[in-house]
Amino acid sequence: SLEQGPERPETPIQVVLRVRPMSAAELRRGEQSVLHCSGSRTLPPGGGPEVAFRFGAVLDGARTQEDVFRACGVRRLGELALRGFSCTVFTFGQTGSGKTYTLTGPPPQGEGAPVPPGLAGIMQRTFAWLFDRVQHLGAPVTLRASYLEIYNEQVRDLLSLGSPRPLAVRWNKTRGFHVAQLRVVELGSLEALLELLQLGLSRRRSSAHTLNQASSRSHALLTLYIGCQSAQQMPPVGPGEPPIGGKLCFVDLAGSEKVAATGSRGELMLEANSINRSLLALGHCISLLLDPQRKQSHIPFRDSKLTKLLADSLGGRGVTLMVACVSPSAQCLPETLSTLRYASRAQ
Ligand code: ADP
Ligand code: MG
Repeated sequence: SLEQGPERPETPIQVVLRVRPMSAAELRRGEQSVLHCSGSRTLPPGGGPEVAFRFGAVLDGARTQEDVFRACGVRRLGELALRGFSCTVFTFGQTGSGKTYTLTGPPPQGEGAPVPPGLAGIMQRTFAWLFDRVQHLGAPVTLRASYLEIYNEQVRDLLSLGSPRPLAVRWNKTRGFHVAQLRVVELGSLEALLELLQLGLSRRRSSAHTLNQASSRSHALLTLYIGCQSAQQMPPVGPGEPPIGGKLCFVDLAGSEKVAATGSRGELMLEANSINRSLLALGHCISLLLDPQRKQSHIPFRDSKLTKLLADSLGGRGVTLMVACVSPSAQCLPETLSTLRYASRAQ
């Protein structure tokens, strides 16, 4: 039953760091692995313990996909989503740092080839857990999914039946921000959801060919909508609160290499292009949300499509997990430091 479910955590945003192993190419070029991890801290070279970065967890290159899934506490997020919260998992980091691998595992060896179970990412593991959980819940829970990509501030439906056109982001009182005419698919089984994931992933990869590596410059959002057939069956979120449907959203963010973090908390500077405008907006919204004096301050969710679509996850009813991804190589150190700073400001 959901009665003894988890409480919403004190901090609405939790940050975990994943350091991937050295790649074959990095080793071939003779690059050094320079990022040392110990407990929940990571120590960049050239400094003492005072420059260490601390996170909710730090996972080094020896950790498996299953280790990462467990350490991130994604099941707990799933429980919260079943209780009506808007939960989001996003991966942040430079291109090649392991964001897509962490969420969905390695790319398939051939067209339609399944991901080996041991290498499945956070998404497949959460999907399997959720279907199992719902089956044992007793209440008739409906699961639906959408999958979209934001490229250059344009929203593209990765599940569209026809050829995809850019879709508009709208706002109204009942739904908040939403994408007009987005395809939302009712899910009859875990297999159906895994198929949708594969469809979206392969569409992302094929657009990457035609749009010059667009997949590293686009954000991909898969959202699961969790609801009961009737409001009476939906467990209330807290005493006196009305029951509502929850959401579980997975976001594979664009490569962060165009974002330069400068100055104090909240001051993020963007290179002169619009591609990563949303990463800047996201960092800005997060730092305002974490500001203890924020009570009255206005959160500029409207600054980008990404922040509009994540507004309810970051704001009121939301719980967010950020997995910051980095390479251990000395060659990547400047970008790694920028990711570590961005990520440590988000907690
Ligand atoms: P990103 O999505 O951040 O651009 P990818 O997830 O595509 O990066 O990872 C880059 C490459 O490194 C891919 O070939 C991926 O399979 C590999 N890789 C990433 N993380 C790991 C890991 N933890 N273990 C093994 N290989 C990894
Ligand atoms: Mg990727």
